[in-house]
Amino acid sequence: MAEQITREQVLDALRTVQEPELHKDLVTLNMVKEISVDGGKVKVQVMLTTPACPLKKKISDDVEAAIRRIPGVTEVEVDLDSTVPAARAQNKQSIEGIKNIVAVASGKGGVGKSTMATLLALCLRHEGARVGLLDADIYGPSIPRMMGILDERPQPSPNEKKILPVEVAGIKVMSMGFLVSGEQAVIWRGPMVHKAIQEFMYNVDWGQLDYLLVDLPPGTGDAQLTLSQSIPLAGIVAVTTPQEVAFTIAAKVISMFREMKVPPLGVIENMAYFQCGHCDEQTRIFGDGGGLEMARRMGVPLIGSLPLDPLLVKGADIGELRALIEGDTPLAAKIRKIARDVAARVSLTAYMSCGIAPAASRAAEEALA
Ligand code: ADP
Repeated sequence: MAEQITREQVLDALRTVQEPELHKDLVTLNMVKEISVDGGKVKVQVMLTTPACPLKKKISDDVEAAIRRIPGVTEVEVDLDSTVPAARAQNKQSIEGIKNIVAVASGKGGVGKSTMATLLALCLRHEGARVGLLDADIYGPSIPRMMGILDERPQPSPNEKKILPVEVAGIKVMSMGFLVSGEQAVIWRGPMVHKAIQEFMYNVDWGQLDYLLVDLPPGTGDAQLTLSQSIPLAGIVAVTTPQEVAFTIAAKVISMFREMKVPPLGVIENMAYFQCGHCDEQTRIFGDGGGLEMARRMGVPLIGSLPLDPLLVKGADIGELRALIEGDTPLAAKIRKIARDVAARVSLTAYMSCGIAPAASRAAEEALA
């Protein structure tokens, strides 16, 4: 009779499987949660660091292959679950229930920062994460339109102590746009901007969130200063078009956050090219390779590039970006990949900030430097 497969044999096998981004094995990273053995059948549960893990398939395949190498194994079942690690609040008042606050920034306006913040929120929610979206673009809030909730208004919480964000498509949304009427301009000085951001963070009942995405105003003004100085940010994502005038200013935003010890997660290049619907030719309207050039100059990764696509304009204008990211199109696949990469980089940063993976490979650390 064949010998009983032991839990130790399975753990030893899993010690050979590396988490591709943290560069340590799954056992050391405490990602193996349950193991059950029934004759030749082995079942394991692996806890990923985000439901939007871009390498789910690779991890699952590697786990299965490693377990199959144990003599006597006839069947393997890999169950992937996730729990998002929380970034450590660096001497800042953490916000109860929110694991990671990610700011979406740009140098110039009009480069697609709000669109990207909305797309990231929708994709991460689509992957199963708990997501909030804060429109901190105080002077030009556009998230209510992009999320199709222009006529909604946040309500007081049952005990009237906090504000309940508007919930749409499973995403909790708060925006200055809910508080001013359509054409009304917001004319505020620095202290008022500071106060508004503090209110949005601490007096909104966000509940439990894996990610709170914050759509910043463009540039390096009061909102950025408040966020970087007093809010525990997991990191920032910089959005730019390939045009030099856009990416040189976006680079300044990264420098500013870096000085405040907020890690840049990477650059997303938007409107990288337009692909003709008739002849498929790609026209690089705003120049070629600007996103990569900026990423290289700043020593941050280029997370991805998105084309200029009229579907994005329409989806944003009529509040239907959700259908767009859930579609089976090359554009949807590109957007979802960008969101997964952002989630992976947040996890990596959170792991490193908690000291859970202090020896994460030099390559990973360099990528985040
Ligand atoms: P920002 O927040 O940087 O000011 P927005 O996200 O508001 O920019 O985008 C500005 C305009 O560009 C919007 O009308 C939006 O729909 C459009 N837009 C953004 N990204 C794209 C894209 N990749 N393709 C086409 N239009 C886009």
